Amino acid sequence: MSASVIDGRAVAAALRADLAGEVVAFTQRHGRPPGLATVLVGEDPGSMVYVAMKHRESEAVGIRSYDHRLAADASRAQIVELIERLNGDPLVSGVLIQLPLPAHLDGVELTGLVDPAKDVDGLTTLSAGLLALGRPGLRPCTPGGVMLLLDSAGVELEGAEAVVVGRSNLFGKPMAQLLLAANATVTTCHSRTRDLPVVCARADVLIAAVGRPRMVGADWVKPGAVVIDVGVNRLDGGLVGDVDFDAVSERASAITPVPGGVGPMTIACLLRNTVLAARAAAEGTPI
Ligand code: NAP
Repeated sequence: MSASVIDGRAVAAALRADLAGEVVAFTQRHGRPPGLATVLVGEDPGSMVYVAMKHRESEAVGIRSYDHRLAADASRAQIVELIERLNGDPLVSGVLIQLPLPAHLDGVELTGLVDPAKDVDGLTTLSAGLLALGRPGLRPCTPGGVMLLLDSAGVELEGAEAVVVGRSNLFGKPMAQLLLAANATVTTCHSRTRDLPVVCARADVLIAAVGRPRMVGADWVKPGAVVIDVGVNRLDGGLVGDVDFDAVSERASAITPVPGGVGPMTIACLLRNTVLAARAAAEGTPI
């Protein structure tokens, strides 16, 4: 079998085109565009690249972006003051604290100070709780993007056996919750899971988010499974995922590439959350 490749760039481009239309309409109705504020502390090169991409893609769909930067030795009080100011700013629809923060700061605690109505990363305790309770709310961007990819590929989740490898707060846990909400039967694996290849080989939908290059080989994959590769690993030859793409493509029915699969969806979903938050705040529309 040769798997069809799920094209994250195309799905993300279609989502951005829809959002650009929604932003025009929102701007006409309210005399201002949705606004996304980012907070970057320090000069981590990877974080600087991600923040620049978030601003570029925001502006491309018409969202106004506000770029707040603080020195690597910024105090907790300085960051709290900035978050509170952004929480109270009516031009700011969404607030994103770029993680990881420098070691002297608590990223979970500071992210939790973002007004839940502006939590476009979906990482506050309230957003996580709403997801766990199956209530509407802003969802974390990468798992939200995976759900859109599965939908675009016509994957039937109801009753499907889904296995998520990785249990981070950023990805694995919310991913499992979203799959459960879609009526999949979900198993979450991690570094202490016994017989990981055997558990993975049960999956109709296998999602790998570990950060180990090409860990998932063909013998971990049930013939005909859908395989979503969230991993991003930088090797000398370039970016590779957590899945051995060439080998697994021979066994799966559909697979995401790295790059060009899940990655493009993350920022597109951030923009979507910003539009959802702007509309909810200005018009009372449900999220
Ligand atoms: P993380 O916080 O480091 O979590 C990694 C998870 O993998 C943990 O739950 C860990 O288990 C588990 N794990 C580690 N070694 C394992 C092993 N040998 N077998 C089974 N499980 C193992 O990472 P993350 O933030 O979730 O990200 C995971 C990957 O996705 C990274 O490559 C990251 O770059 C990528 N990512 C990509 C995007 C995107 O937009 N494309 C977004 C987010 C993340 P324990 O909990 O037991 O330690």
